[in-house]
Amino acid sequence: MKNLIAAVALALMSHAAMAEDAPKWSLAIHGGAGTLDPKAMTPEKRAAYEADLQAALDAGSKILADGGDAMDAIKAAIIIMEDSPLFNAGKGAVFTWDGTNELDASIMDGRDRSAGAVAGVKTVKNPILLADTVRTQSEHVMLMGAGAEAFALEKGFAVTPPEYFATPARREALERMKAKKLSALDVDHKFGTVGAVALDMKGNLAAGTSTGGMTGKRWGRVGDAPVIGAGTYADNRACAVSATGWGEYFLRVGVAHEICARLRAARAMNWLSFDNKGAPIAPEAEDIAQTVQDVADAVMYDVAELGGDGGVILVTPEGHAIFSFNTTGMYRGRATSAGVNEVAIFGGEEKASATPDH
Ligand code: ASP
Repeated sequence: MKNLIAAVALALMSHAAMAEDAPKWSLAIHGGAGTLDPKAMTPEKRAAYEADLQAALDAGSKILADGGDAMDAIKAAIIIMEDSPLFNAGKGAVFTWDGTNELDASIMDGRDRSAGAVAGVKTVKNPILLADTVRTQSEHVMLMGAGAEAFALEKGFAVTPPEYFATPARREALERMKAKKLSALDVDHKFGTVGAVALDMKGNLAAGTSTGGMTGKRWGRVGDAPVIGAGTYADNRACAVSATGWGEYFLRVGVAHEICARLRAARAMNWLSFDNKGAPIAPEAEDIAQTVQDVADAVMYDVAELGGDGGVILVTPEGHAIFSFNTTGMYRGRATSAGVNEVAIFGGEEKASATPDH
């Protein structure tokens, strides 16, 4: 009997060890944060947003579950949201003051910290793919405006007519803004940028973000989304982050890099876990998850203190998929190799734990 118990215990332990060692993947996506009003969210609207978020999550998850690259997973997820008219990226982008749609995007590979970004492009259907082409086929990190479009042409991107991006709801928002002399925040109360972050089974991290910016933007205004370190950052040693919110504040805080830098420091200090004699101890997985959440919350708190709002998504090398936002809602979703698969809109709707092992 004793032997049987010992054998079962051993089997359970080795199963736990296997689960611990099994390659993990993790994906988080967002479709923008903002002051979302639950009363204005009809069941039909909610279903439409959830369907597109789920489609993006499924496209990225499938690649990761099949052993594919984090970079491919985030591109697949972002393309679906760029193509959806519901989000402020690609089709459905907000209007500038002059009545055009000007798109920004950035992408970063955590393996080598190679990065690409474009700002103010008007005729590229999927700006995230152009950003990735800047990363892989140019010596540069960021291209803007007419130059970015000339580069796109040279690399074989089709010219998409500007009308493709325009939607009646976004045009109406610009007209309302002008008629009532509203600010970009008053007119939308929400953002709608899209982004994705992923960990693949090889342990590589990737992050990407794509946006139309903010309604009524002028003078070539560029927000945080295409700026590496502000709206997007990925580093295999720390985390992958994509942000959404009032870009000026995210730029000033350097949100995405700030989160990764703090996590690198926490990791270097063994997650600040010490026994009562001051010796470092291996932290529990839950403690690490909490530290990651605390770091993201602290940086978002910094944004709020300056007067900004919005949110971030991040994944870590351990596979945590974390959200942090200081708005009432953020269109979001996450999926992991442990079977987590959920989309959510308002605060506190998550059902699953963020850690793949739990
Ligand atoms: N962060 C974006 C910007 O400021 C807006 C957004 O997140 O929707 O351009």
